[in-house]
Amino acid sequence: METIYALSSAQGRAGVAVIRISGRDTAAAVEALTGRRPGAPRMAELRHFRDPADGSPLDQGLLIWFEGPRSFTGEDVAELHLHGGRAVVAGMLAALGGLPGLRVAEPGEFTRRAFENGKLDLTAAEGLADLIDAETSAQRRQALRQMEGALGALYEGWRGRLIRVLAYAEAEIDFPDEEEVPGDLTAELQPEIVTLMSEMRAHLDDGGRGERLREGVEIAIVGPPNVGKSSLLNRLARREAAIVSDEAGTTRDVLEVRLDLGGVPVTLADTAGLREAAGAIEREGVKRALARAEAADLRIVVAGLRPDGGLDGDFGLAREGDLKVINKADLGSCEGVAAIPVSAATGSGLEAFEAALAREVAARFEASEHPVITRSRHREGLKACVEALDRALGALRAGRATELVAEDLRLAARSLGRITGRVDVEDLLDVVFRDFCIGK
Ligand code: GDP
Repeated sequence: METIYALSSAQGRAGVAVIRISGRDTAAAVEALTGRRPGAPRMAELRHFRDPADGSPLDQGLLIWFEGPRSFTGEDVAELHLHGGRAVVAGMLAALGGLPGLRVAEPGEFTRRAFENGKLDLTAAEGLADLIDAETSAQRRQALRQMEGALGALYEGWRGRLIRVLAYAEAEIDFPDEEEVPGDLTAELQPEIVTLMSEMRAHLDDGGRGERLREGVEIAIVGPPNVGKSSLLNRLARREAAIVSDEAGTTRDVLEVRLDLGGVPVTLADTAGLREAAGAIEREGVKRALARAEAADLRIVVAGLRPDGGLDGDFGLAREGDLKVINKADLGSCEGVAAIPVSAATGSGLEAFEAALAREVAARFEASEHPVITRSRHREGLKACVEALDRALGALRAGRATELVAEDLRLAARSLGRITGRVDVEDLLDVVFRDFCIGK
């Protein structure tokens, strides 16, 4: 396999830049650049780097040598910690490109090699990608836990138990008359299959919290025109994101802002006023708003107090779990209405509203103590596994041939194995590693 190299720190001017090299020719590359082979592994060494082509100085920096297999990729790895100037980095990359057997790494290739050398499973690799992408503290906690193997361990644990069940069924096929294999397969296997299925179903029935946390929670602000939805969004975003106007129907499209609500990434969408729209453009806006509100993970339903004490809008639209807010509380009294009173104009009640919103979001989407599904890939695999187990159970109960039961058990184990990457995943790898950045 070729030796690969890439800038692993971010592009652009910086204090320090890290270039990583991995593969068989790493030691030779270090020698070409510094005149000596790498020294003791896992120690930082100060070296002068020169361009092997003409001997001109490139930089003075640190070399850290990781001798395979005790490295991130499992191969020989060198990390060059250089001064992070653009010319330094460009010069070093060009020098590396001129060495025999070396080529630039593809996105995610270091991690892919680590996976192929058994350093981490696929869920841990995904956790690593998520950690690099994490923008909020809750995302970071979830990604770190997955990278450290919590999800992989859960799935491998289930797979181990499934394989024991399968071995048992296969023993019955191979040695139908053996004394050691108790005859009543149904009684022996059924309880464990049932237990496995219920554990997996509980894990699947998580309201999508891990996926939501990874991708961002969608919150829609809904309510009739002119009740102050845009004004509320602006307050929450603490900047002028939406156009506020006292002419009904100015928010013609869906406007959104990204927020960090107590560690959970949130996309807050202000939707066009829900009302009988006059113009075609506005009708389109209402249609989109409705679709958006329908798809949202959480909805804030807003009504507005009128100076005469009446209410614009009602909470008849609200569904269970929606957060109800009365805006324009500065215009009168909101007593007796089961909603949070706020005033986007004066700012009163906003703190309590934000706290209620953050509590709601945290309760539903904050990083869980238990490993959770973070990608539809996991969900699909688990569903396929449970379906296969269900078929196996049905076949067992109907007294069908053990071969049929074993076939479904095998399929179930394989579905789990594909999630962690333990079996037959060549077709998956391009998809999983495609989203990585270069140098990782
Ligand atoms: P939207 O159509 O629901 O998005 O409503 P806007 O945010 O565009 O606000 C409509 C009108 O109500 C504007 O004139 C705002 O200045 C006004 N408004 C918004 N919030 C408040 C509030 O809390 N109190 C009062 N008195 N007026 C408000």
